[in-house]
Amino acid sequence: MTSETQAPTRKVILTGDRPTGQLHLGHYVGSLKSRVALQETHKQYLLLADTQAMTDNAHDPDKVRRNVLEVALDYLAVGIDPAKTTITVQSHLPALAELTLMYLNFVTVARLERNPTIKEEIQARGFGRDIPAGFLCYPASQAADITGFKAHVVPVGEDQAPLIEQTNEIVRRINHQVGREVLPEAAALIPRFGRLPGVDGKAKMSKSQGNAIPLAATPEQVKEAVMRMYTDPNHLKVSDPGQVEGNVVFTYLDAFDEAVDEVAELKEHYRRGGLGDMVLKRRLESVLQAMLAPIRERREALAKDPQYVFDILKHGTEQARGVTQATLDEVREALGTFRF
Ligand code: ATP
Ligand code: MG
Repeated sequence: MTSETQAPTRKVILTGDRPTGQLHLGHYVGSLKSRVALQETHKQYLLLADTQAMTDNAHDPDKVRRNVLEVALDYLAVGIDPAKTTITVQSHLPALAELTLMYLNFVTVARLERNPTIKEEIQARGFGRDIPAGFLCYPASQAADITGFKAHVVPVGEDQAPLIEQTNEIVRRINHQVGREVLPEAAALIPRFGRLPGVDGKAKMSKSQGNAIPLAATPEQVKEAVMRMYTDPNHLKVSDPGQVEGNVVFTYLDAFDEAVDEVAELKEHYRRGGLGDMVLKRRLESVLQAMLAPIRERREALAKDPQYVFDILKHGTEQARGVTQATLDEVREALGTFRF
């Protein structure tokens, strides 16, 4: 190959999802949308983080196993192209587990306990004092995922920012110790809607909180979820002035309705009074139905041939095995661990 025909080296992206349920609208605005665009310009790896999902689902491995297919279907349905993006399964990349063990020695228990995301998630899961050790330590495993692929960019929702920071702390400690840059630091790429609230008004739409609209939702489920959506609890009569801030219907219109000027007018009207919640909800419903219909159609077609999807995962995981093993070898070499 001559220098003219050589493609410039693309920056590497690693991101992924826990196979704990079908992906939802929060994933769409928070991450999937940018991934579909970025696969055109970057070397992109997507990780189905089934090992991480086990850290709070060890009592239900079947759920994690089943959802590997569900999440992969969501990827393909929104437009992830396996010819451009490598889709991989975490539990079949043993080098990541070994990197995790190594990285656990470069982070303290106190630092893990102080991580704001971990704190929030421990509370949301109601662990009390019974925190699975694997859960507390998953930031080290996430650091292994990101650095295992030598990722420069990690497109994630806002909740993940402290985990990227924690990854970079581990990277800096290792690079400092060995006196050169063995591992690159990664930048979080957080979109405008980095934290979509749940339909119940809670801070984050989440698979584990039962407040999500899955991308695979039926038209009836979409309608039902929009109709029970949290608005302004003090907006009792149509003529009452209403509050836009914290009103989930408006947050979703901002995220999904492309007619920005019309949404701005609706906000004005709502604030003045005279605009009912039902009008807004019907509008939001039709925006979401139009967006989700083609995704659902593609998903249903793909779901008829699970073997096709598993073959994509198998192929992607095989490719990733070499990449992650090479990083593990380099880290071992740099740290000077025992060799025969
Ligand atoms: P779980 O409840 O099992 O943790 P989750 O809904 O939080 O599931 P993850 O698989 O943990 O989903 O997250 C995958 C990616 O999607 C992460 O980058 C995360 O930041 C992003 N994400 C998740 N929920 C939202 C949301 N409500 N808004 C924006 N981004 C989100
Ligand atoms: Mg999560």
